[in-house]
Amino acid sequence: MTFDYDLFVIGGGSGGVRAARVAAATGAKVALAEEFRMGGTCVIRGCVPKKLMVFASGYSEMFDDARAYGWDLDEGDFNWPRFRDKLHAELSRLEGIYRKLLDGSGVEIFDARATLKDPHTVTLSTGKDVTAKHILVATGGRPVLPEISGAELGITSNDIFLLDEMPKNILIVGGGYIASEFACILNGLGVKVTQFYRGAQILRGFDDEARGLVAEGMRAKGVDLHLGTNIVEMRAATEDDLKGHDHGVPMEEGRPAQLPQTGTGKGIWVKATNGQEAVYDQVMFATGRAPNTDDMGLQAAGVEVGRRGEAVVDDYSQTAVPSIYAIGDVTNRVQLTPVAIREGMAFVETVFKGNPTPVDHELIPSAIFTQPEMGTVGLSEEAAREQEPVEIYCTSFKPMNHAFADRDDRVLMKLVVSVETRKVLGCHIVADHAGEMIQLAGIAVKMGATKEDFDRTVAVHPTMAEELVTMKEPVRTA
Ligand code: NDP
Repeated sequence: MTFDYDLFVIGGGSGGVRAARVAAATGAKVALAEEFRMGGTCVIRGCVPKKLMVFASGYSEMFDDARAYGWDLDEGDFNWPRFRDKLHAELSRLEGIYRKLLDGSGVEIFDARATLKDPHTVTLSTGKDVTAKHILVATGGRPVLPEISGAELGITSNDIFLLDEMPKNILIVGGGYIASEFACILNGLGVKVTQFYRGAQILRGFDDEARGLVAEGMRAKGVDLHLGTNIVEMRAATEDDLKGHDHGVPMEEGRPAQLPQTGTGKGIWVKATNGQEAVYDQVMFATGRAPNTDDMGLQAAGVEVGRRGEAVVDDYSQTAVPSIYAIGDVTNRVQLTPVAIREGMAFVETVFKGNPTPVDHELIPSAIFTQPEMGTVGLSEEAAREQEPVEIYCTSFKPMNHAFADRDDRVLMKLVVSVETRKVLGCHIVADHAGEMIQLAGIAVKMGATKEDFDRTVAVHPTMAEELVTMKEPVRTA
């Protein structure tokens, strides 16, 4: 049987684009369909614009720091429209690069939605059917709103980059990566941020000590974090809601008794599980993401779809249909760009290079771009001690740059070490640039470095990271 293409990729995000390019480089005839903008979540409404907003928000503290270091300067105001327009110009530039790379690799691009018709056929929204020997589903995920009365008035991380104006105050719901990162970003940009998390501590699953320090740092910088708290109901605010200003947290002193002109245009009244009522300019939900499998024709083609809507795949990213593979967030394995890229490359290695390659999902380093920032690889202390006896090496201190600037921010360096093998099972860093540091520590941990290997390494002085190789005695065993 002959096909129009050797590979048809559905979705132009990080994973899909990489797989298409690498497959085309093997001489395969490849096409890719994208219904929105090339680059996907990471480039258009995720990692890239988020990180640029992290940079923008970091400047608010730098004015104080610069003065402490002897600079004479006045604080300026953040100009959201100016930043936003530059941000979108940058995203368009990056999108252009993605297109160019695909073009240059000989991948045919369809600016259309594609759905599965059968194991070898996709139907494009243009009405055209095309056939392929292999189909790769790389459609990513999308934010989901919780089932709360009035939740549709809220925004998600998709909307935040497009706001006409910055809200004066915002309620962020959730305690994961996205909620915590945006709480810090918006706080740094001068927005009054309230964060509700339903559990006992934000960043569930990460090392307790590390996430505790992140939460403490966030609060110290001004995020009004409420744990064990959720929204009961919300609705568009009425004039009455604003009278008296005794409703709760976000009502600012001296604020004119009129409804804010942002958000829904009226403000959003929220009742919380702790009984508090308040009006916010915006409510942002960061309550998890769902795989994009709706109306894709996956089940009809024979692909198994899991409980959360994910395309179910094996270690080689192959679905129950031998010709159909899936990678990235749509498989709901590890929702990280570099992992989707790895999965895409392993798929090409397996299918187009005859070298079956499973994706290694062990010991993935990651960073949470909160303020303070956290970098982490391997097991938390809590998970490690469930597994085996461990020694904990940990230090928390005020780094010299913050001490000089009279800032209270503390950093944390922590190693979780196996008593039996001496291997470093986990490394957790809370500090400026923790993401950069954990990338490098991640190499050592992935190589199976022992505590003694860390100790043999000479410190780089004066740095914060030198503490990782100078911690002599465990603070506890567990
Ligand atoms: P997460 O799954 O990390 O967090 C979702 C949060 O929402 C949790 O705190 C969860 O609480 C809470 N939640 C879920 N349902 C409800 C509800 N009905 N009411 C109230 N709260 C609720 O998702 P995110 O959206 O933050 O991020 C998605 C993924 O994106 C992450 O897992 C990560 O892989 C990736 N990401 C990575 C980044 C990075 O590498 N820096 C940055 C941003 C995203 P509970 O804990 O109780 O379940």
